[in-house]
Amino acid sequence: MREITNYTILITGGAGFIGSNLCEYFLSRGNRVICLDNFATGHRHNLKDCFSNSNFTLIEGDIRNYEDCQKALQGVDYVLHQAALGSVPRSIKDPITTNDVNVSGFLNMLQAATEAQVKRFVYAASSSTYGDSVGLPKVEEVIGKPLSPYAITKYVNELYAEIFSKTYGIETIGLRYFNVFGQKQDPNGAYAAVIPKFVMQLMKHESITINGDGNYSRDFTYIDNVIQMNELAMATDNITAVNTVYNTAFGDRNTLNDLVAYLKYYLKVYDPAIANVTVIHGPNRLGDIPHSLASIDKAKELLGYNPKYSLQEGLKIAVDWYWNNLK
Ligand code: NAD
Repeated sequence: MREITNYTILITGGAGFIGSNLCEYFLSRGNRVICLDNFATGHRHNLKDCFSNSNFTLIEGDIRNYEDCQKALQGVDYVLHQAALGSVPRSIKDPITTNDVNVSGFLNMLQAATEAQVKRFVYAASSSTYGDSVGLPKVEEVIGKPLSPYAITKYVNELYAEIFSKTYGIETIGLRYFNVFGQKQDPNGAYAAVIPKFVMQLMKHESITINGDGNYSRDFTYIDNVIQMNELAMATDNITAVNTVYNTAFGDRNTLNDLVAYLKYYLKVYDPAIANVTVIHGPNRLGDIPHSLASIDKAKELLGYNPKYSLQEGLKIAVDWYWNNLK
């Protein structure tokens, strides 16, 4: 294992939820961080603690533009590629833009990173690649058919990464993120993720709507576990651990009903009335799978992954952040 300090790390999508948390963490570990972002869904305010650090550089640019990728890659040791258009419903509404960013943009970054001879290209893959496979827990080698345009784009990323490592020798690692949550995740907009959206609605005493009966379950993954996986993916010297993909999750599942109960439990400490906010059940959402649970055995065995935060431990921290920053 190498210690990840004093390197130059390019974080694409660094103004977004996961990217901005990665920027802060790797700056705090004594690295130089370059953020490439076009602010499509990211925000300058996510980077407010980075701007004061002289080791931080923001490049406003677009991964669909090859020159922007080349410019951002100058002098870079490692790439943490996060830039993409997330959200299954967004991809159903506009598959062409999702494909342009998530596939063509990804390919630009991978090609430019190969030319720049970076040490390793670590990228955000997705649990959506498991598609319609029903077996639990999900193991990396067994996937189903994609259920959305978004899922296709994330799977294509894995295919390109594998071919690039075989053909051009660039080292890649894909991290299949499972329902990540935590501080700075955007609660606003039509495509907001469920946890920040529910937190905001509960704080405003607005009733919340669960799609379906609430018994669907997910492997909710706190951001610090994701940061650990990114660090391990850069740090490993184990040659059998690279040029592959890893589930990036806590390795447990909770239902949507459990999630809402925990959110109310942690938020009522700040405002007791939140315990009485109404919960409505709507129809199931197109493209949603009933259950998701990761096996994290491969990451434990090959990378030494040891996730520290369960859903409850992560929610406690995230809820406190939302209350203090967005109330
Ligand atoms: P986010 O929307 O908060 O961050 C994405 C960032 O990419 C934003 O800052 C956005 O402005 C930037 N971006 C978008 N298009 C760009 C472009 N053309 N050029 C440059 N920058 C661009 O999303 P997030 O939740 O932080 O997700 C980060 C990555 O993780 C994405 O690749 C996403 O697909 C993947 N992922 C996330 C989750 C999750 O639960 N959040 C789950 C699976 C995979």
